[in-house]
Amino acid sequence: MKAPDLLPPRPTAPVCRACGSADLVLRGKKSGEFIRTEFSFHQCRACELLFVEPFSGFEIYNDAYYRGAGPDPFVDYETEYRDYRRTDRALEFADLARLAEAHLAASSASYPSSASSASSASSASSPVSPSPLHWLDFGCGAGGFLKFLRERATFAGRPLQLSGHDVGSYAELLRSTDGFRILDFDEISREPSAQFDVISLIEVIEHLPEPAAAIALVARLLKPGGLLLLTTGNLDSPVARRHGIHYRYCAPEIHVSLFNPRCLARLYAAHGLTPLPVRYLGTVVFKVVKSLRHRPVLRALAHLALKFPPFVRLVDHLYGVSAMPCAVKPTTHS
Ligand SMILES: [Zn+2]
Repeated sequence: MKAPDLLPPRPTAPVCRACGSADLVLRGKKSGEFIRTEFSFHQCRACELLFVEPFSGFEIYNDAYYRGAGPDPFVDYETEYRDYRRTDRALEFADLARLAEAHLAASSASYPSSASSASSASSASSPVSPSPLHWLDFGCGAGGFLKFLRERATFAGRPLQLSGHDVGSYAELLRSTDGFRILDFDEISREPSAQFDVISLIEVIEHLPEPAAAIALVARLLKPGGLLLLTTGNLDSPVARRHGIHYRYCAPEIHVSLFNPRCLARLYAAHGLTPLPVRYLGTVVFKVVKSLRHRPVLRALAHLALKFPPFVRLVDHLYGVSAMPCAVKPTTHS
C-alpha cells in the first residue's frame, strides 16, 4: 500500500467567486443555525466580494425553508403563491415596476428605433401594434412578481411576455398550474442571446455560489438597452458595517455571496453592463416590514412611520438599499 493514498486530500485554497483572485482576507467564522458547520467568511481584496466557504449546497431550500422554518424566517412561499397581495412583497413589486417603467420611458425617448416599434408607434399615435416586452424573473420563487406583472395588461404601452427561472416544487406549480413559462437550469442556459428587455434578480444573487456566472448569463440574455433590476443586501451600509459578519444578513447556509455597491458595479462592468443608479421607495419599506413579519404591532407601526418620506430616506441610508446599483446593457449607440 502506498502511503500517500492514506493521506486526506489537501484542501485547496479558496479563490474569489466573483473575480478569481486568490488575494483574500479571512473576515471571521461562524456556525450556521441549521447546519452546525463552521463557515468562513472570506473577503476578496481585489473586488471586495465577501463569500462563504464551504458552500453548503441547495438542499437547504426544502419545504421547511419555503414555510419560513429554515434559515430565513421571513420567507413565506405559500402565502405568496396563493395571493401575493396578502404579503408585504406587493410594495416591492410596485416599486420595481415603477423603476422599470421610468427606465423604459427614458430609453425609448433616447433611442426610439432601438427600443421597439412600439414606443415610436405610441408617441406618433399610429395604429402599428406594439412589440411585446420580454421580461425574465430570474429566481422567481413562489411567483408573486410574475403574477403581479401578469395582472397588468401592458407595460410601458407594450404587451408583456413573461418568463421565470427557478427550480423546485413552486417552479413546477407555476409551470403546470399557472401556465407560466418557467425555465430550469438547462433551459435557461440554452436560451438564445439578447432575448429580454428586462431581467429581474430580486434577492437572488446572494444565494448563488457562482455570482459571476449568473451575471454573465443575464448579460448575454439581455437585449442591448435592456434593464437588469437586481436587489441584494449592502454589506457596506452603516448597519452592516456595525455588525460585521454577525449582521443577520450574513446567514452562511443561504447567503453565500455578499456585495457592496463597488463590488456589484465591478461585476457588472466585467460582463459589459453599465451600473444604473436607482432610488428605491417601496422596496425600502418592504425590507423593514418584512423583518417584522412575526411582530404584528411593530409591523403596523412601521407601516405608519414609513408613510413619511424622511423616515424612508433614513432607513434607506442605514441599510444602503438605493446605494446598490441596477444595470443596463449598453446599446451600440452608447
Ligand atoms: Zn474578487
